[in-house]
Amino acid sequence: MAKGLLIVLSGPSGVGKGTLCTELRRRLPDLVYSVSATTRQPRMGEENGVNYFFKSREQFIEMIDNDQLLEHAEYVGNFYGTPRDFVEKTIESGRDIILEIEVQGALKVKEKFPEGVFVFLLPPSIDELKERIVGRGTENQATIDHRMSVAVDEISLMEHYDYAVVNDEIDCACKRIESIIIAEHCKVRK
Ligand code: ADP
Ligand code: 5GP
Repeated sequence: MAKGLLIVLSGPSGVGKGTLCTELRRRLPDLVYSVSATTRQPRMGEENGVNYFFKSREQFIEMIDNDQLLEHAEYVGNFYGTPRDFVEKTIESGRDIILEIEVQGALKVKEKFPEGVFVFLLPPSIDELKERIVGRGTENQATIDHRMSVAVDEISLMEHYDYAVVNDEIDCACKRIESIIIAEHCKVRK
């Protein structure tokens, strides 16, 4: 049986990764979403095991020591990581899985899974990115500034990805990613 696709979606904070993943999952019910572990505090409405597995720093370090994470990275003062077992089992079972992770982590995944599909989500402009992150209303000003400065470095690493998708309108961006998934399944090596 053919393995599933490992799809990695990255992009600066506020570009719309979460919004797009929610819409993609609605349109593609068979697409599996990888729930990450993080030491960040939950935002209003976020649920443990649904949005993230919320962990203390000690619990997170234990996961690293036990080799339970496929990759992990520190981002704006918190740890984030992808539980390994779930990803590997999903791919082996022939289902596609999407990881919504930042750039350092994505590059580590690329070393381990060069056959993965790496998609970078871009904002229509830097001004629009700032408007979206401010408009979301989940971060204080210092965190917004920090995330915006990291965004510039992240965008400079886009060349390591297979695809660049502009998130101008959710519907268009979704269609672009759906097309990428269809095309990847049609590849001769698959
Ligand atoms: P990320 O997960 O990349 O940090 P979010 O999905 O939380 O970003 O989106 C950040 C904000 O931008 C949210 O308020 C969301 O509603 C808004 N947003 C997302 N995509 C678009 C879009 N295509 N056009 C306008 N606003 C968008
Ligand atoms: P947020 O705090 O906004 O939910 O996420 C901050 C950043 O961490 C985003 O770029 C998000 O994609 C990334 N992220 C979420 N989960 C993981 C993960 O498991 N590993 C890595 N490396 N980054 C992650």
